[in-house]
Amino acid sequence: MSAQQHDRSLSRREVLRHGVTAAAGGAAVLGRGTAFGQAPAIQTHTQTGRRFRAFVSPPGGRPRGIETVTLRAIQPHQVVIRTEAAQACYTIVNLLAPPAVAPAAAAANAPPSAPIAGHGGVGIVEAIGSAVRRVQVGDRVIVPVTANCGQCWNCLHGRGDFCTAGAGRPNAPVANMADGTPVTGTLGGFAELMIAWEEQTVPVATSVPPVELSLLSCVTTTGLGLAMKRIPVEPGSDVLVLGAGPLGLSAVQGARIQGAAQIIVVEPVPYRRDLAMKLGATTVLDPNAFALADLQARIQELCTPKTLNRAFAGARGGTYGPMFVLEAVGGDLFPPKVPAGPDPTGIQSLQLAWNVCPSGGTIRTCGVGFPPGATITIPAGQWSNSGRTHLPGNFAGVNTFRDLPQFARLIERGQFDARSLVGQTFPPDGAREALQVAADRTSITGVLTFT
Ligand SMILES: [Zn+2]
Ligand SMILES: [Zn+2]
Repeated sequence: MSAQQHDRSLSRREVLRHGVTAAAGGAAVLGRGTAFGQAPAIQTHTQTGRRFRAFVSPPGGRPRGIETVTLRAIQPHQVVIRTEAAQACYTIVNLLAPPAVAPAAAAANAPPSAPIAGHGGVGIVEAIGSAVRRVQVGDRVIVPVTANCGQCWNCLHGRGDFCTAGAGRPNAPVANMADGTPVTGTLGGFAELMIAWEEQTVPVATSVPPVELSLLSCVTTTGLGLAMKRIPVEPGSDVLVLGAGPLGLSAVQGARIQGAAQIIVVEPVPYRRDLAMKLGATTVLDPNAFALADLQARIQELCTPKTLNRAFAGARGGTYGPMFVLEAVGGDLFPPKVPAGPDPTGIQSLQLAWNVCPSGGTIRTCGVGFPPGATITIPAGQWSNSGRTHLPGNFAGVNTFRDLPQFARLIERGQFDARSLVGQTFPPDGAREALQVAADRTSITGVLTFT
């Protein structure tokens, strides 16, 4: 890297640390200690040995918790990010369960390590490896759950939501615990530093507060993807959203942004139904108030026109239903401390999604946590030729490098209400508490803030 490039990186960092006025006095900034010819941190791994706190899962069944760990030398394609905020996803609340001892055979294949917990987050780039081109020191970046390399088979074929960059990068240790145990985890979030591969970073230039941006690392991005990406909701259409957690409520807003005429939400928790109405739902239904067949009938009734329901006048000539069904339920990992739905496995919601969708409609699913071996039943003739389109995938057609800046812009312009999806915030050492509110579903989200 040339001295000129280093100069620019320093100045970006100084803008963030000391404000525009301080950075504008360029000579004074440079005079504060980084002289030309002196090795820049971004090139020579002088961050090596830096100590930071991280929520880790040590091997051997040792208790999970916050440890002070020591950064190793970063690799040419790695980025060191000072974490600003990170959300505790429901997907990782299993971290609250007692740690399991890895089977000996598995331990033999991979040396014991302590992964850093988290599902990504948002922060400021503090150092980059010598080969990094996508981001610079001082950039604000989102580290999403799914990378986007632009070069793997899936990225090249328009399926960046299944980017396989992770398969091309080793799960190499990024730090050491005090006793020397290697620490892994290039996604992180529950740590003062995230050490991510370049492909996992998405720079965003925005005034949106980090606590709101942190939702874009996972849940909100998936919800917006369900409604807006690959098979976007048509303006004027009927949309059914199953589940009004942070993901479903993001899908509700995505459908509203797309111009849906009707957004029907099925959700057992009263405060989440209220949030759904605030954020764009037109009808909310409590699944505990209906038998499954009656719930399906009610949704279909809501989607059936009351007038002009005649053949050759635009009518379907068959059963009506939502032309877009967006599933955001999944299985319960723990019993919630709020009203539970009628089916803790989440399977019923998948079945309902198929049954209620008419021919020609689209079903998007992204739930996780179903019991092993669980199945749904689809009549062969329907699967073969009923005309439903099913697009599954837990990053919902999103190309993170392309789409996250767009989503940040929707928040910035007030089109997407992220503030209402920030339930409770916690200090950096509150990871366990943030996971607990997610597990209990007592708050719409739990977010760690580091600033
Ligand atoms: Zn997540
Ligand atoms: Zn890729």
